[in-house]
Amino acid sequence: LAKEKGKNNYQFFTEDLNKKAIRKRQIKNALSLAIEQNEFKLFYQPQVDLQTGKLIGLEALLRWYPSFGNVSPVEFIPIAEETGLILPIGEWVIKEACLQIKKWKNQNRPKIKVSVNVSARQFKDKEFALKVKQILEDEKVDPSFIEFEITESVMLNAEEPSLLIREIKEMGIKVAIDDFGAGYSSLSVIKNVEIDTLKIDQSLLENVMQNSRMMSMLEAIIGVGKTLNTKIIVEGIETKEQLNLLNDFQIIGQGYFFSHPLPPEQLQDVWGRNWLQNE
Ligand code: C2E
Ligand code: MG
Ligand code: MG
Ligand code: MG
Repeated sequence: LAKEKGKNNYQFFTEDLNKKAIRKRQIKNALSLAIEQNEFKLFYQPQVDLQTGKLIGLEALLRWYPSFGNVSPVEFIPIAEETGLILPIGEWVIKEACLQIKKWKNQNRPKIKVSVNVSARQFKDKEFALKVKQILEDEKVDPSFIEFEITESVMLNAEEPSLLIREIKEMGIKVAIDDFGAGYSSLSVIKNVEIDTLKIDQSLLENVMQNSRMMSMLEAIIGVGKTLNTKIIVEGIETKEQLNLLNDFQIIGQGYFFSHPLPPEQLQDVWGRNWLQNE
C-alpha cells in the first residue's frame, strides 16, 4: 500500500512539475512577442513625503496582459531575466516612462520624479549606458525626472557597478537602492557609490508590527540614510498604524495605504492633494 501511495505521490509530483514547465514555456513564448503585440503597460504608484503629505515621486511598475490572462511581474520578470528578454523589455520600460513624463509635462503637471526598476541583467549589458543616453536624446527628456531603482544583486553581479552608477549619475539620472535591508550585503553595497535614495524593503515594516526589535533596526537604517545624506523611502505602508510608526521621521512613504499602482488615466487626482489628510 505504501509503495502504491509513493507511486501516486510521484505521479502528482511530476504532473506538478510538468504543469510548471508548460506554464513557463507559455510565458517565455508570449513574452518574446509582448512588445510588438502591445501587451505591456506601465502603472504608477505614488511616493509621499511623510512630513508634508506632498507627492514627490511615482514608481513605474510594469503590467502585462497576454491573451491567456494577467501575469504578475513577480512571475514574469525572473523569466524575462533568465531569457535575456529583460533587455528589450527594460528598454521599452525606460522609453515608455520618458514618453509619459513628456505627456505630463505637456499637461502642465508639477515636476514629479519617476522611478524606473532596472534589473541586474540590464546593468550587466555593456551597452546599457549608451542605450539610456540614446533614449534620453531621442525623447528629449530632462534626466533629473528619472530615478533608476536597482537591487543589491546589481552590485554583486556587475563587473564595475560603481563605474556604471557614476556614469548614470553623470547623465543626471538619480539612483535608488531597492529592497534595502532584505538581502545580506546591504551596507557593503552602498559604501563606494553615491546613492540618492534607499528604499527600505517592505518586509522590515511587516515585521515591525510583530517584533519590537525591528523598529530599532528600521531606525538604524534610517540613521544610515541620514548619515549618507540619501533620501529614505519606506515601502509597503498598508495601514494607519504603520504610518503612525513613521510619523516622526523625515522620510518618504509608499504603499497601498496611500494608493495602489494606477494606470496613467487614473492619476488625475494624485497631483495636488495632501496625502496625509482624510486618510
Ligand atoms: P519592487 O520594485 O520592490 O516594487 C514594489 C512592489 O510592491 C510592487 O509589486 C508593488 O505593487 C508592491 N506594493 C506596493 N505597495 C505595497 C503594499 O503596501 N503592500 C504590498 N504587499 N505590496 C505593495 P509589483 O508591481 O507586483 O512588482 C513586483 C516586482 O517586480 C518589483 O518589486 C520589481 O522588482 C519588479 N518589477 C516591476 N516592474 C518592473 C520593471 O519595469 N522592470 C524590472 N526590471 N522589474 C520590475
Ligand atoms: Mg522598485
Ligand atoms: Mg522594492
Ligand atoms: Mg522587490
